[in-house]
Amino acid sequence: MTQQVDIVRGRDCRGCTMCCKLLSVEEIGTPPLSWCPSCDTKRGCSIYEQRPTECRQFYCEYLLDPALGEHWKPSKCKMVVVFEDYTNTLVIHVDPDRPHAWREEPFWSDIRGWVRAAGRTQRQVVVWQGNGKIVLTSGSRAGKAAGPMSFPGGDAIAAP
Ligand code: SF4
Ligand code: SF4
Repeated sequence: MTQQVDIVRGRDCRGCTMCCKLLSVEEIGTPPLSWCPSCDTKRGCSIYEQRPTECRQFYCEYLLDPALGEHWKPSKCKMVVVFEDYTNTLVIHVDPDRPHAWREEPFWSDIRGWVRAAGRTQRQVVVWQGNGKIVLTSGSRAGKAAGPMSFPGGDAIAAP
C-alpha cells in the first residue's frame, strides 16, 4: 500500500540534500553529520531509483508543515526539522558548519513558540548541535530570548 503524504504546496526537495548530511540512514549504515557517500550535493542522490526505504519514506517538517516559513528550507538555513511521532519530539538537526544557526533570528523566535506550545501537549523540543543534545525546556524562562536550556546532566546554557 502506498502511503499518502501531504506535502506543502509549492515545496519539494529540489536544491536540497541536507538530510543526506545531518541524518543517519540505518539501512545503509551511514552516520549522522557526514555526507552520505551516495549524495551528490549538486545533483542529489546518485542512487535515487535504488535509494533505501528509509530515504523514500523520509519527509522533513519543511515539506510537511506549512507553519514552517520559507526561511526553514533546509538547504538555506542548514537545519533539518523532524517530528518523531514515536517519542512525540520535535527535533532540530543543526549543521555542524553553522552550529549556532538555531539561536539566530528568525529561527529562535519560531523555536521559542514551539517550546511554549510543546509545554501544552507534552511534546519535547530537542536541538542536535553536532553530537550535543540540547533539550529545550517548556518552563517559563525557556520562552524568553535569554532563557536557559537544559542539557541532560543538568548543565544549562543561556540563549541569545
Ligand atoms: S532536508 Fe527535507 S527538503 Fe531537504 S532533501 Fe531532505 S526531505 Fe527534502
Ligand atoms: S541514499 Fe540517497 S537519499 Fe539516502 S541519504 Fe544517501 S544520498 Fe540521501
